[in-house]
Amino acid sequence: MLTEHRRDGLYEFVRTLLRHSFVLDCMAETLPKSWAYIEELINEHMECTKKGHGHKSRLKQLVPTIGTFHTPLMLQAAFEEYDAKYKISTRKFIQPSFNDIRHTMNLAQVNALKGQLKLVTFDGDCTLYSDGNNFAEPKLARNICLLLRRGVTCALVTAAGYGYKAERYEQRIGMLLKAFVEHGLTAEERKRFYVLGGECHYLLQVNEHAKLIPIPELEWVGKECHGWPQEQVTMLLDVCEGCLKEAISDMNLRTTILRKERAVGMIPGGSTGKATAPTGSGSKRSSLRREVLDECVMRVKRAIEESDVTIPYCAFNGGADVFIDVGNKRVGVSALQKYLKVAPSSTLHVGDQFLDTGNDFEARNVATTVWVTNPHETKYLLKQILQKCCGLKRKLSEYTSATLNALIPLSAAGDNGASAAAVGSGSAISPETIPEDIAEKGGGGGGGPAAKRRAP
Ligand SMILES: [Mg+2]
Repeated sequence: MLTEHRRDGLYEFVRTLLRHSFVLDCMAETLPKSWAYIEELINEHMECTKKGHGHKSRLKQLVPTIGTFHTPLMLQAAFEEYDAKYKISTRKFIQPSFNDIRHTMNLAQVNALKGQLKLVTFDGDCTLYSDGNNFAEPKLARNICLLLRRGVTCALVTAAGYGYKAERYEQRIGMLLKAFVEHGLTAEERKRFYVLGGECHYLLQVNEHAKLIPIPELEWVGKECHGWPQEQVTMLLDVCEGCLKEAISDMNLRTTILRKERAVGMIPGGSTGKATAPTGSGSKRSSLRREVLDECVMRVKRAIEESDVTIPYCAFNGGADVFIDVGNKRVGVSALQKYLKVAPSSTLHVGDQFLDTGNDFEARNVATTVWVTNPHETKYLLKQILQKCCGLKRKLSEYTSATLNALIPLSAAGDNGASAAAVGSGSAISPETIPEDIAEKGGGGGGGPAAKRRAP
């Protein structure tokens, strides 16, 4: 059984098209036309999907794994904008790369959100903070403050599942919460920031004191999350645990299984793993090879497909571990959209794991997306969003704590860049009012200091 390893179907298709221009040494003349052709294919696919026969579109035939598009993408214009700065079309030795394609797609997506962006959801590791570390980018924090000030709701949607232990999430994003205070965000603006842990399980909201407060599940969880039968959850975890054990045996891994209430994972085994498999690999974070982790993910996915499991899940390579969570970011972002009354075409998910072995992959079904590889790129992307979608004209470096405090909220300014404070939300409650059975739930999986991810 052959599986394409770490490839995105659409990106590979685009790369193949662009390669012709490079080989024929006519990039300046033909690259814009190639992007215009891809734009045409996407528009046709969207039109076919709207009429209920997306499977017949030319793009679907060319790229069978093609996902959902929530907005049209002006790809030719985005490429011309990108090329004007980076001059890809003048290169003689380096053909258009995966990153050139990724940046062009990202730019087209940001341009498409002008006038309609209401919700931005962020992945954690390698998106808001570096792998396994805490939030540490003051300028990224400032940019998020500006987004909140301009009426856009933001959420961290992460695999890290600490239940409703607010202090654990506060530890990861402490610098950001502090920035809310330092930049003088109002109570209303602070309350526009949410944290959704365990992919889709635990929702918390920032309060007026910049502390995280849990929101009870009954108030926000979509119908899909309710009523997942316990026997289905147990079956999913059993199938995955059995599959991981077999993989450990086959590949002589020095790893161990970690089972939680809503997740199961394979993590480095340390000295115990070494003793169990003296000639194997995987006792430390650094010794677990990417190929091994991806092999485990693909095996688990196949095993689930062949089982009677019907509930949503997320099996992903966490960089130094493999985790399978009950539920996924499609469920999480979708439930958040319903709670906040925001459409997919007004939602942007920012993440670094969009391959089918990553945990941002499923978010593509319910939101527009941009693909970053580190917090520095996220910071740059937010700069583009603030200038293109939120109408900020000044250099972002001019927005110090004092000037940001004086920045007029979008709603008051009457600017039509973004839809200000348009999302609804329920009111947060104090932790004491959370039902005991909810408060005690553990689970989630992956993320956290144990999760070391690599860029694709
Ligand atoms: Mg990530």
